Amino acid sequence: MNPFVSKSIFVVGIVFWLLVRIPYQQIQKQNIIVEQRKPLQEKLVRLLLLIGILFVPLIYTLSPWLNFANYRLPIWANGLGMMIVALSLWLFWRSHHDLGQNWSSTLQIREGHTLSTNGVYQNIRHPMYASVLLLCIAQALLLSNFIAGLSGFIGFSIAYATRVGQEEQMLLDTFGDEYEAYKQRTKRLIPYLF
Ligand code: SAH
Repeated sequence: MNPFVSKSIFVVGIVFWLLVRIPYQQIQKQNIIVEQRKPLQEKLVRLLLLIGILFVPLIYTLSPWLNFANYRLPIWANGLGMMIVALSLWLFWRSHHDLGQNWSSTLQIREGHTLSTNGVYQNIRHPMYASVLLLCIAQALLLSNFIAGLSGFIGFSIAYATRVGQEEQMLLDTFGDEYEAYKQRTKRLIPYLF
């Protein structure tokens, strides 16, 4: 696939990804926050993710600076990347939809917070993070560059490693046995596997 086309597909995917979030950000503003954990760490982690998934790919797309690290991929890999972007977008939207008012961009509990266990939360506890991981896989398949293709994985790995355990602990402290039982019957990212 022409690199211009595969780069454009990734950028369009990112634009849709950002658009999906806008209405939920408006809803989040109405929440009364009763608990907030690690606000500074959360800011840094989100910045890192934005650098890996947005800024580095944009530099690669808009300038020739990173071209020294290009690699070549067969056309089927680009096609697969395109399908994975679509799947990631759907899962990203669906997990916002299923969390509803319980969604927040940082580690927070709102007044009236309920535990979401339906829809895409039925079998996995972190479908939104799974959608980000899918986006990172698509990034590596669409941006044929060792820096811009892999920067998403680096950002995601650090964000996931620092966040997921603390998020689960916060939900366990809030929902107790209900969350423990939910943990027992679900996996983190991949249904029935991991
Ligand atoms: N880790 C989840 C949600 C990410 S949004 C995912 O990947 O899909 C982060 C916020 O969602 C956290 O601050 C937490 O308060 C909330 N949250 C996470 N899982 C939840 C659940 N099952 N029910 C209700 N709120 C949840």
